[in-house]
Order: sequence, then C-alpha cells, then structure tokens
Amino acid sequence: MAVQELYALQNGFMSAQRSLLFYGEFSGDRVQIPITCWLVKTTDGTILFDTGLSPRAVPGLMRNDPLARFTEEDLLVHRLDVLGLQAGDVDLVVISHLHYDHAGGAEFFAKSELVVQQDEYSYAHHPAAFFAPFYYRKNFDLPEARWRLLDGDTELAPGVSVLRTDGHTPGHQSLLVELPQTGPVILAGDACYWQEHIDGERPPGVVWNPTLAMHAIKRLKTLARLTGGRIFPSHDPEFWRTIKQSPDAFR
Ligand SMILES: [Zn+2]
Repeated sequence: MAVQELYALQNGFMSAQRSLLFYGEFSGDRVQIPITCWLVKTTDGTILFDTGLSPRAVPGLMRNDPLARFTEEDLLVHRLDVLGLQAGDVDLVVISHLHYDHAGGAEFFAKSELVVQQDEYSYAHHPAAFFAPFYYRKNFDLPEARWRLLDGDTELAPGVSVLRTDGHTPGHQSLLVELPQTGPVILAGDACYWQEHIDGERPPGVVWNPTLAMHAIKRLKTLARLTGGRIFPSHDPEFWRTIKQSPDAFR
C-alpha cells in the first residue's frame, strides 16, 4: 500500500502568449510550453494525472501554431506503451480540469475511472462565454465513461491525495504524491503554470477567478513547506527541460 514511482510524460509542445500565461501582462510575445501528463505507480494500482491533447486536435495545432511540436512519441498511448502499459491498465485518471490540453486524452480510458471535481464537470458543460473556447465538449462528453465526481480534497490511495485548487477554473484540482525517496511532490496542474507563478504568486492569464487562483498557489506553497515537498508546475519549459523524463522515474 504505497507509492512507488512517478513518471513525467511529455505530450508535445504548443505556444502561448505571455498575456495568457501571466495575469495582468499585456504582451503578445509567444513562448513554447510543454504539455505534460504524469503517471503514478503504486502497489495498489496505476494513476494518470492529466491526459494532454486529443490526437484529433494535433493537426490543427501544427497548422496554426508555429511553435507547436508534436511527434508520434508524444502521443499519450505511445508514452504509456514505452512503460509497458496500455490505456486499460490505468485504474484512475485524475484530470486537473477539463480544458482541452488536459482532458484531450480522456476518451482512451474507457475502462478507467475518470476523477474530476463535480464543479468542474458541471461548469465544463455550461461554461461562460469568455471561457468556452478552452472547453472542447468532445473531450468529456463520454457517455460510456465512468466518472468519479469529487467535492474537495480526497485521498485516492495511500500517499496519493487530490487537493482542491480553484481559480484557474471553478473546479481545479492538484495531486499530492508521497514518493518513498523523493518525498512529497505536488503536481500542481494549471494552479501553477511556471515556477515563476509559484515564486511570485502570480495567477495565470487564463483565469476564472484570479484571487482564488492566487489563494490556490499560496495554499500549495504552504502544503509544500509543511510537508517538505516540491511543487511541479504544469507548463514550465525550463522546469521541463531539467527534470527526469519517462522512462526515468522519480522514486
Ligand atoms: Zn494547461
């Protein structure tokens, strides 16, 4: 009954204007950012955190985004394949929120339980007009899927806990993973895009409620301090370049 390994799975790169990354910035400069998924192996089962882009969305991205990069290897099913896993081997798929760069692969996990916050699930079906472009209904309108809708912090398995971190979206969640050697790691999801968001307590530019987003960052920092853990941001190119990538694992 324990966490064994954590794998960083790259799901290609896209670009974002700085104004979308940092609340209050008005720069149209584009930056290349990684799309990230994480796999957690425990003695009880296998947990995926975030599912990246839908393969359906990749051709359009490659056409329209000059900084996009996406190879065959970047497909989530291929990333799992390298680890000797098929989609059906994943027990729980925790989705930080239902934006298209996090929920795009949910459809492949028909046998898994899809874990999201109830509020996120509801909002994604009826988003406000300003936020609708980030929710692709096809990603989560999955009649066959088994959804587990949470309301707040939840322990999913020994050493694996969902942390509610609203702000970026109305029902955002992060994942605390307690690794045997590395210690606690918080997979922030889009509660923290970059290390700079953590250090400067800066809300993302794409945001439902900037004040709550800032509170979420502060809360994760407090938890990291109290547990002696680290926060792993979701879209930080510098962080991504420097960490262990699958098939290497954090243990
Ligand atoms: Zn994102």
